[in-house]
Amino acid sequence: MAIDYLRLSLTDRCNLNCIYCTPLEKSGYLAHGDLLRHEELARAAAAFVRAGVKKIRLTGGEPLLKKNILELVRMLKAIPGLQELALTTNGVLLKDLAVPLREAGMNRVNISLNTLIPATYKQITGSGSLEDAWDGLMASLRAGFSEVKLNFVVMKRINDAEIPEFARLSMDFPLSVRFIEFFPTNERSKNLKHALFTTAETRKRIEDAYGPLQQVPSGPTDGPARVFKRPGAKGKIGFISGRSDYFCGACTRVRMDCTGKVYPCLFSPSTHTLRDHLRAGADEETLVELIKKIFLVKSKYNKDSASSGHIEMSSMGG
Ligand code: SAM
Repeated sequence: MAIDYLRLSLTDRCNLNCIYCTPLEKSGYLAHGDLLRHEELARAAAAFVRAGVKKIRLTGGEPLLKKNILELVRMLKAIPGLQELALTTNGVLLKDLAVPLREAGMNRVNISLNTLIPATYKQITGSGSLEDAWDGLMASLRAGFSEVKLNFVVMKRINDAEIPEFARLSMDFPLSVRFIEFFPTNERSKNLKHALFTTAETRKRIEDAYGPLQQVPSGPTDGPARVFKRPGAKGKIGFISGRSDYFCGACTRVRMDCTGKVYPCLFSPSTHTLRDHLRAGADEETLVELIKKIFLVKSKYNKDSASSGHIEMSSMGG
């Protein structure tokens, strides 16, 4: 499949410490000099677009912690041929940034929110404020993005009791609520193995509460999600089944972390790094050729190719 989607991690820094994501023993953050600067990110992104990428999603870490994020959004938005710029954020800083981000050219926003109970929020994130995240979600709904999605990582006995309430949000608000199967990535999240809750179980909870769900055709922004809508609902419900359903065949994405390492697949090692080329002043043609080579090796990897079984979502970008 043609690669048309780049997930770009801007920073390994995060203002939350989520149990399913942040490593248990985080031994400090990367040095500033290791992170790509705006100009380097924009040059790399422009080369990805020339190599065929049409959509870029900013992630992290927490991407809104990247200094002068609005300036970076404007730089990326100006890349000729880029059709869509999207963001995945925990929403804590969105209340004040939603409108400026929209004005800077951000098209779509995904917000990670896994509970509406303050004590559970503390349990999952370790810090931060549920009120801020909620205000951020509401601010993005008002800001005029083409789509707002809510990402809910389902964890048994932690937040599964809230599944019907989150499904309800898709009825009351023009929101795509996406139930994501938790999958163990690093040592910390492997301790949460007991928390696995399949899409089939989640769907049953929703149907027990509200009746049968009707599947609707997936749209161009739905990625690997299977999408459903309740009659009269303002929004949609999606399921992302990274564990129980195998969607590698339909994957058109690559990832670049905040230091310029490129990962053809979530389960592959980084095969190339662009940082040295960027810092040595490589021209766009050279970068495009390098990126095309990376695209060619993508088909070698899939979910079974995780060599160490260890993925740090917090630095490579979930
Ligand atoms: N800080 C931002 C946020 O919280 O959305 C962006 C980075 S976070 C790594 C991006 C996404 O990674 C989250 O929405 C979450 O769904 C996903 N993620 C991280 N670890 C995960 C895990 N173990 N299982 C499922 N999803 C995970």
